[in-house]
Amino acid sequence: MRNKIPNQIILAYKVSHNYNINNFLIDFLNLSQKAVDIIWSNIYWKEKVVKHRYKVGNNYKYYTTVRLIPEIPKDKDFKRELRRRLLNGWNYASHYIDAAIKVAYSTIDSWKSNYLKGLRKRTKVIFKRPFVRVKTTLIKYNKEKGEIKITIKPRKEYLILNIKDEWFFDKVKDWEIGEIILKENSAYLTFKQSLDHSNREIIVGVYSNLKSLDIYHPIEGWIRVDLSELHRIKVVYDIIIDKLKSIYKKSPKRIGRLLKKYLNRRKNRVKDFINKLTTQLSRLFPNAIFIFEDLNKFNMYDKNSKFHRELDRTSWKSIAKQLEYKSIVLYVNPHYTSKTCPVCGSKMESQEGQVVYCPNCKKSFNRQLVGSFNIFKRGIKLVKKIERRSWGPRVWGGG
Ligand SMILES: [Zn+2]
Repeated sequence: MRNKIPNQIILAYKVSHNYNINNFLIDFLNLSQKAVDIIWSNIYWKEKVVKHRYKVGNNYKYYTTVRLIPEIPKDKDFKRELRRRLLNGWNYASHYIDAAIKVAYSTIDSWKSNYLKGLRKRTKVIFKRPFVRVKTTLIKYNKEKGEIKITIKPRKEYLILNIKDEWFFDKVKDWEIGEIILKENSAYLTFKQSLDHSNREIIVGVYSNLKSLDIYHPIEGWIRVDLSELHRIKVVYDIIIDKLKSIYKKSPKRIGRLLKKYLNRRKNRVKDFINKLTTQLSRLFPNAIFIFEDLNKFNMYDKNSKFHRELDRTSWKSIAKQLEYKSIVLYVNPHYTSKTCPVCGSKMESQEGQVVYCPNCKKSFNRQLVGSFNIFKRGIKLVKKIERRSWGPRVWGGG
C-alpha cells in the first residue's frame, strides 16, 4: 500500500465555529442510523460449514461448526429503494442522503471485515457521536473572500466559515475544496490538489544523516542539505531538559511546568524547521519524486552489523512524512545503500572518514554520495515497477 504513486495531495485542517447545529447533527445521526438499520435488516446470512480438528494421541478427530457469513445488499434496486425511504421526512438538502448512505456502507463494511476476522460479534452498528459528512456538491468555496459556504437547506439555511485569517489560508487558497466533517463546535476541512504525473520525471535519491541530507539529482548532481542547525536546536534544548530532569524532585510542580514548556518549545522549533525545509525542497524540485530509505526495514537488516551512520530517526521520519504532503515520496529497501559499489555492484569496505573502497574496481568513493546514488537507482527501478503495475493487467486480491 505504501508505494503507490498518489494522484492527489489532500491537506486537512480543523477550524472552530459558533453555529448551533445540534439539531442538524442529531438529525443526520438518525438518518445514518436509519440507513444502517435498513441495510442490516436486509443482510443475507449465508451458512458456511467450518471444519475443525483436534489431536487425540497420534490421530486427529474432526468436528464442524456453522458460521454465518453476511452478504451486504449493494445492488442498484436496493440502493434506490434505500434512498427513497431515507428521503421520506428529510428536511435538509437531499445530497445529505447520499452522504449518510456512504457513511452507513463504509461503517458496515469495516464491521464485516472485523467480523470475518473474529474481532466483532454479530451485532448491529450503533452511531453514538454526532457528525455530518458534507459532500463537495454542498460546498461553495470563494477563494478571493476565503469563504466556505455550506448548504444546510437549499435557499434557506447556510453555514459560512471564513478562513481568510486562518494560518493555513495561504497554503490552500488555490486548492480545490474537498469533503468537510461538521461537528458540534468544529469543522474538519480538506483541500485537494491533483498531481500531474506526466511531468514528474525526475527521480531524486535522498540519503539521510544526522547532520545532512545528501541528495542525488540526475541533472544537478550531488546536493547536500545542511541539517546542523536542526541538530543544534535539539542539542540546546536537550541540555536544558536534562538539567531540569536532574532537579525535578526538588520542586516537581514548578519544574514539571518548566519541563513541559521546554519540551513544547523543542517540538515546535523542530516542526517549524522541518516544515520550512520540506517546503523548500518541494519548490526547488517541483517535478521530482523523492526516494527515501524505508526506515521500518532497518532493524531487519542491520541488527547485528554495526551501523555506521549516525541517525536521528525521529527527524528523518518527520522530514519524509512532511514532504509527503507537499510532493511525492516513495520508499526503497535500505539494505547496504552506502556499501554497494555504484560501478560494479560489489560490496565495498569502509575506510576512514566518509570513504568507501571497492576492492574489485580499486576505487574509493564518498559514502554519502554512494548512498544517495544507490537510493536514486533503486528509486528508478521502483517507479518502473509501479508504472508497469498500474498499466498492466489488473490483479485482484493481490497485496
Ligand atoms: Zn566496484
